[in-house]
Amino acid sequence: MSLTHGRDHLAIPGPSVIPSRVLQAMQRPAPDIYAGELVELTDTILDQLNALAGCSGDAVLYIGNGHAAWEAALVNTLAPGEHLLALSSGRFGRGWAEMGTALGINVQVIDAEHGQAINAEQVAATLKADTRQQIRAVSTVQSDTSSSVRNDIAAIRASIDSSGHPALLLVDGICSFGCEPFNMDSLGVDVYISACQKGLMTPPGLAIVFVGERARLARQDASPRSAYWDWRPRIAASTLPERFAGTPPTHHLFGLKEALDLLFTETPEAVWTRHEQLAGMVWAALDAWGQSGEQGCLESSLSLHVADVDQRSRAVTAIHTAPGDGARLRQWCKEQAGVTLGIGMDLGISAGTVVGSSTDAMFRIGHMGHLNLPMLMGTLSSIDAGLKACNIPHGGGALEAASTVCSGYG
Ligand SMILES: *Cc1c(COP(=O)(O)O)cnc(C)c1O
Repeated sequence: MSLTHGRDHLAIPGPSVIPSRVLQAMQRPAPDIYAGELVELTDTILDQLNALAGCSGDAVLYIGNGHAAWEAALVNTLAPGEHLLALSSGRFGRGWAEMGTALGINVQVIDAEHGQAINAEQVAATLKADTRQQIRAVSTVQSDTSSSVRNDIAAIRASIDSSGHPALLLVDGICSFGCEPFNMDSLGVDVYISACQKGLMTPPGLAIVFVGERARLARQDASPRSAYWDWRPRIAASTLPERFAGTPPTHHLFGLKEALDLLFTETPEAVWTRHEQLAGMVWAALDAWGQSGEQGCLESSLSLHVADVDQRSRAVTAIHTAPGDGARLRQWCKEQAGVTLGIGMDLGISAGTVVGSSTDAMFRIGHMGHLNLPMLMGTLSSIDAGLKACNIPHGGGALEAASTVCSGYG
């Protein structure tokens, strides 16, 4: 017996659900890449992306995933041997740092405490100690998808400013862009990166890099650097093949345009609020599941990885379970309910005692992008049923709690 015969639901934190309108917009004949609709459409996409990011600089697109955006940001701002201070609150902050090391950059990592955001005071102290101002850039992740920790970008910016340090600020918004409020100009972010398959609801394949004025000028005359990832010719481009260093990603552009139209029709503010509200429902359900269990009155092992509400992502939630339970629950939800939950990830924090939980003792719920109430309640209900089916001790009333929270939203 299985209840999977209906529309599958992907509740992982990226790639996210693709709206039918986006898929339909991609269902078309191959277009001219030198003139006409696609050229104008790409200009509009870049304007829309800049508006969504609050970026008065340049939006640059690459054919690639989030890792491509990581590499583009690094090779355009740092030469091998130069210094990067990488702030890590999970696997992705750590992964970006590891890529820097692989590129020959001299990387120093600051790990956040388990389940917490980056400590801005620690950043300020590290920058103040860099009296020769060797650190050229600070990298951080707005919301780390592995841990669901959300960092305070304004506080990190303030820590750089208060230490009188000239380092550039590079921010990974791959999980958060289009889900959580962000404004590159007012936050003083120099490079902001994203990809199209999370909050932007488009099949994976486009990396987005927003280049602020300071970052663009910082290594304007530096050479050599990677020819393909160099953002200078892409910024200066007047044709699509120049913009993409070759053939443009034709159908992805049609898809992304439709997704951005959906987003701007709803308005970015409303999209951010929707994510805030849906996240609140997930947390309410978790608070209930985490109470002492219904099943044999056992203690519940379910808990949110991030205790402080301000430090929680609005796009993804990481949840701890007893060893093995996360994996069993995911399997039940996929095979019996048609809902795919996010895997537990190594949290990327290796220092001292704060090694992340084993990955079968976690799962994640993606609540990003094209998501409404029945989709989220369906996921929460499936988890509720799965906890019972798998005999995982948990508190009751989670669905009631989620719908009660929701009923309070104006
Ligand atoms: C998904 C994600 C990445 C990696 O993106 P890929 O497309 O898998 O390369 C990096 N950083 C964050 C915060 C992410 O959410």
